Amino acid sequence: MLKLLAVALLFSSPVHASAANAPPATAARRPVLEVVVLGSGGPRPFGRAGSSFIVMVDGTPRILLDAGPGAFLRIGELQLDLEKVDIVLLTHLHIDHSGDLAAFFNARALTSDGPITYRIFGPDGAGLFPKTSRFVDLLVGDGGAFAYQKTFGSDETFAVHDLAIKLNSPRTKIVYDEDDGLLVEEIATHHGDCPSVAYRITYKGHAVVFSGDMDASALPNLVQLAKDADLLIFNCAVLDPPESPSQLYELHTPPRKIGEAAHQSAVKSLLLSHLAPDVEGKKEEVRRSIRASYAGPIAFATDRLGVPVGQ
Ligand SMILES: [Zn+2]
Repeated sequence: MLKLLAVALLFSSPVHASAANAPPATAARRPVLEVVVLGSGGPRPFGRAGSSFIVMVDGTPRILLDAGPGAFLRIGELQLDLEKVDIVLLTHLHIDHSGDLAAFFNARALTSDGPITYRIFGPDGAGLFPKTSRFVDLLVGDGGAFAYQKTFGSDETFAVHDLAIKLNSPRTKIVYDEDDGLLVEEIATHHGDCPSVAYRITYKGHAVVFSGDMDASALPNLVQLAKDADLLIFNCAVLDPPESPSQLYELHTPPRKIGEAAHQSAVKSLLLSHLAPDVEGKKEEVRRSIRASYAGPIAFATDRLGVPVGQ
């Protein structure tokens, strides 16, 4: 049974978390759409796992979004059942978002005797970064570092889709399950020299958007993707200028601009994740900066936090 440890949420915020000592919820009582934070940190090791989330649909884990280092450990701590997790969404291929992907495949293969067909999505390649299909191939393909994975447990098929990375690329539907109406859309963002995308997941009228890591140059795309979503999970790795090293503003969006984007997209609630040590130490300053533009609930993620979407 999933145990959700929740702290640091806001008063009567619709961004609601289950308390650690609450009675276990039955599947029937679970929200129709829920995000479980596996990792709320970034590349610096200070107690938070690297960026990673599990999306629960009708109480069942279905989607892995990013696989930062520590995701494997959090999955075990939360006793999450991976048997239906066949959709993997990668925002970009930095290590703090993808370092546990092979460990996830390893764990997932042990949950099922039958064949597994993964649908994996991530950015196309550029510069030092391979396209996502090559990245997966380098891990578990023939001649890959962990080629043995395909002989480990279940038969696995990896259907990998490389997503457009130019900022003028259109918003695209990448998953639509006719059985239950689960919809995943994406749009290109910008994260310095690292190809990156953002995702929107919609189910039964509820929607959550994941910014991934992005600098402010991609905010028009993010605002479009997040329009009227119930929850925007924005990666918050820097303070407002000039408090963080200047080069980080070419990689990340500062709080004041996060607030402007949340307001412009009219999202109903905001969860800040991918927290850096300096951000963690100045939460009230960050909150005030966002509050200058955005009136909705603002919360900070913690590892193992469960967040119902739109309920
Ligand atoms: Zn990151």
